[in-house]
This record gives sequence, C-alpha cells and structure tokens, in this order.
Amino acid sequence: MQTLPKRIKGFSNRLKSFEVNHMKKPHSLSAKEIIEKVRGGELKAEDCVLSIFNRIEEVEGRIHAYVTLTKELALQKARKIDAKVKNGEVLGRLPGVCIALKDNLCTEGILTSCSSRILDGFIPPYNATVVNLLLKEDAIIIGKTNMDEFAMGSSTETSYFGATKNPWDSSRVPGGSSGGSAAAVSAEEAVLALGSDTGGSVRCPASFCSIVGLKPTYGLVSRYGLIAYANSLDQIGPLSRNVYDCALLLNVLASYDPKDNTSIRVPSQDYTQFLVDDISDLKIGIPKEFFGEGIDERVSKIIWESIYTLEKLGATYEELSLPTLRYTLATYYLIAMSEASSNLARYDGIRYGYSIDYDSKNWNEVYSKNRRIGFGSEVKRRIILGTYALSTGYYEEYYLKALKVRTLIRDDFNKAFKKFDVLVGPTMPIPPFKIGEKITDPLSLYLTDLLTVPVNLIGSPAISVPCGFVDDMPIGMQIISPALREDLLLKVAHIHEQNNKFKDYAPKL
Ligand code: GLN
Repeated sequence: MQTLPKRIKGFSNRLKSFEVNHMKKPHSLSAKEIIEKVRGGELKAEDCVLSIFNRIEEVEGRIHAYVTLTKELALQKARKIDAKVKNGEVLGRLPGVCIALKDNLCTEGILTSCSSRILDGFIPPYNATVVNLLLKEDAIIIGKTNMDEFAMGSSTETSYFGATKNPWDSSRVPGGSSGGSAAAVSAEEAVLALGSDTGGSVRCPASFCSIVGLKPTYGLVSRYGLIAYANSLDQIGPLSRNVYDCALLLNVLASYDPKDNTSIRVPSQDYTQFLVDDISDLKIGIPKEFFGEGIDERVSKIIWESIYTLEKLGATYEELSLPTLRYTLATYYLIAMSEASSNLARYDGIRYGYSIDYDSKNWNEVYSKNRRIGFGSEVKRRIILGTYALSTGYYEEYYLKALKVRTLIRDDFNKAFKKFDVLVGPTMPIPPFKIGEKITDPLSLYLTDLLTVPVNLIGSPAISVPCGFVDDMPIGMQIISPALREDLLLKVAHIHEQNNKFKDYAPKL
C-alpha cells in the first residue's frame, strides 16, 4: 500500500489517513479491469473471490457492511467461470466481478432479512430478476448487505443487526438506507453493489462513502423480487467506485421484465459508449433551492467548484427556481409512509419470519405481538403515520393532496428540462454525521433527504458522484436528467470524474 505522497490544500493532518488507490490486489481492481483480466486468462475468478474474502476478513470487523456472506456459493460460481475460460466457452458480460446485494433483494436459498427481525429466518424460494440477470452474466454474488430496516432511513442505523460504519471515519454513518452496499464498495469489500433508492437510498450512501451511485429512471430496472417499501418510488440502482463500472452494471440491469408491470420496454444499449469527453453543448440548470436553507455552506462551495470545472470543460450553466421543491419532503413522506403501511401489512409472523410461540387462537393478539416485537420503532412509526394518512376522512386531506402536489412537482421539473439538459446540485445537504447524532430525532433525519427525494417523485434518474471533502469527509454532487437520459448523466459524471483530483482516493482501513 502506498501512502499519499503530497498534502492537498484544504485538508487537515488527517490527510495521512488517505491513500492513492494503487493497490493491485484483485479486490482493488475495477470491474472493467477484472473483466479484461478474467477474459484474457490473466486472472482467475477464484482468485478474485479469495482476495475479496481476505479483504472482508481484514476490515469487516470495523465496517459491518454485511448481514450474510456466501463464500462457498461464490467459490462454486467462480470455479464454473474459470472452467468456462479454460474450455473456451462464451463468457457473460461481468465474469469474475464480485457483487454485494442489499438485503431487500430476494435471493433463492439465502437469508433475505431487510435488516428486520420480522423476517428472521426468511429464505426466499426465488431470485429477484436483477439477481438472475447478474448470475447469467457470470457476476459473483458474495453476500447480502446491511441496511436501514425495510430501507427506511438515511444512516443505516435502524438495522436490527446494528449500524454500519463509514469507511472514511468509523464514528460516522455511511448514509442509508443502502449503507452496507456503499460501505462494502468503498472499503473494497465488493467490486460493485446493488442498492435500492426510494428517496435517495443509493445516492445518499454513495455521497457519504465517496463512490458513484445511480438511481435509474422508474421502470428501467425490474423491481421483481425487491421487497417493497413504497412501490411508486422504489428503484434498484448500481453502486461502484467509478462511472465506467456504473455504466457496465447498468448495461446488465436495464432490461424489460414482464414480471414487473412498471417495467419499460427500451432497447438494450451499451451505456459505456456515452462516456466521451465532450460536454460542449451541455446546458446545466442550477436550482437555487438546492443551495438555499438547510444546505451547509461548505457543501455548497464544493459543488460550485465542480460546476465551474464543468463550465471550463465547455458546458454552460444558469440558475433557475423550482418553487415546488419546498413541498417535496412532505409530499414524499406522506406517499412513502402510506404505501409502506399497506406493503408491510403482510408481515404477521404466521407465514414466514419471526413469530412468538402462541397457543392463543386470538389472532389479533398474535399478529399484534408479532408485529410489536418484529418491527423496530422507525418502521412502526411509519406504519402508524401511513395508516393514518390513508384512513377514511383523512385520505383526501393527506394522501390525495400529496398525489396532486406530486403532479405539480413533476410539472416544475418538466418545465426546467425544456431549457436545461441536466440539473446539478449537492446530493446531501450536509457531510456525513456522527453515529447516534440524529437517530433520536426522526425529523432531523428526514430533513437530510431534502435533495434526493424530488427525483423519486418525478421518476427521473439521478447520479451521485464524489466531488470533494469537508473536514476530510466525502461530499457528492448530484446530477439529474429527464427520464431515460441515463446516457447524459453518465457522460457528465464521467467527464467530471476524469477532471476530479480526488478520483483515486480510497479510505485507509
Ligand atoms: N431516507 C428516505 C426514507 O427514509 C429514503 C429511503 C430510501 O430511499 N429507501 O424514506
């Protein structure tokens, strides 16, 4: 391992703890490098798996990214891939790439817990569509990652299994709810990972862990086998250490699925072809509200530096206002909690998961007790609030009103997209905070979702890319595009990455 040779202006002495990512052990390689080496017979898939598990052994005690590890299955898959190489058989698109899956994605024969006690011992009999897509392409699944219980949270602190730590500073949160997936990728305990993003859960932890995270257009990636939080908002997305790898993973994930009735039929494409260094015609919109109340000035400053970089590279930018943004948090939480209360009604402890020992035939009592013990307090809070918002007499007042405001928000963005190709701002309003700092005050935690929830409400895609540090903690920039313009997002993210001086930094563990 090589220690960073020079100090970079603006960093404190803790810079010593940062390194240039020059390590060439398989767990440190990019997906692109692994694919090339495995194809060329230079690297065995089995060695990729062994290297990843050595790394996990080395650092996992300090990170706690995983709920379940599947080393034996990973080795079996790796040997099959190596045999294919040896026999000259056709390989999939991700041979030997070790991938971690958020624990709300169903995996046949492997515990899928949503980091909740209520799913204790739940072994799905089938794979989520995305899992089958990955396996078909010769990717290797190495385990299931920790998350906020049922994906409700922004810090990975509400997990029944305990909090995940930020690899850049173990006293801080990795973001959430896909915190385990992001921490695993950042700490090189996985090459790639999948998360789910209902209101920011891929982009928030990507930002906090200094990696790339994409929330695709609603419907581009199948949700079949993703345990639902809020169906009209949920979307599965890739997490990676660079933009190219993100595009590679999206190539595999973006695929029409008849099993998901919101799945969009779009021709499959190679997203890596859009990673060209030309943004000369690009018009960037900067929503003023993304730099207004509640946004840490140090975060704003770093994002503006990135905007100036994009300008130097040929783009033009202009500020705009999205007046309905002030309603997005309230709208999001009403819709998300309402849908969640309905989705989570199925967990009664009778058919699967946690159950008390019961003799009673008083089913109301049994269900209540199972749910009281099985769910954590944040999940219960949301079920109660969501049930209230959907109840007779309040439905029109809350849920229906939120749906109407959702339309107004969409109109606001559509207007902006008539003038601009992409919108840019921070991903998170503040740098990663301390573990325990916000968890006792749910409202302060909800406020951190201010800038990520809008795109879930409108269905558009957005990406978070690393762009700098505040007090040695990572800051991510968010790029938003109209629906199905992931090509644009990846292009802007890529050119930004190539011109970002922090691009090769990794946390020292
Ligand atoms: N933090 C948001 C929430 O708690 C978003 C979570 C998510 O995207 N799954 O609802």
